Amino acid sequence: MGTLDSAVMCSMCRALGPSKASSVAHMHLRILFQDEPDGKRGLQSLYQCSVCRTCWLQQFDKWESCLGFKLWPGNAEDYLGAIYDSSQVKTMPSK
Ligand SMILES: [Zn+2]
Repeated sequence: MGTLDSAVMCSMCRALGPSKASSVAHMHLRILFQDEPDGKRGLQSLYQCSVCRTCWLQQFDKWESCLGFKLWPGNAEDYLGAIYDSSQVKTMPSK
């Protein structure tokens, strides 16, 4: 709930850095959801930091190599909405 301001990101999340291949989750990241690969897309997992509440998407490609973490701008519900709508949505929501 509420707005997420990247200025309040904790130092561990800042160190994580977006889209860095092979980054590993830091100790305060908790996994919220894991999404099975569907053929077009690899495995992805949603994490939330228990310190600063930042959500991160960890993505793997079809060949299961880690693509790193991407900042997820919404919350867990937004994520589920995006997953379940994705079969009908042709354009990605704006970042
Ligand atoms: Zn954090």
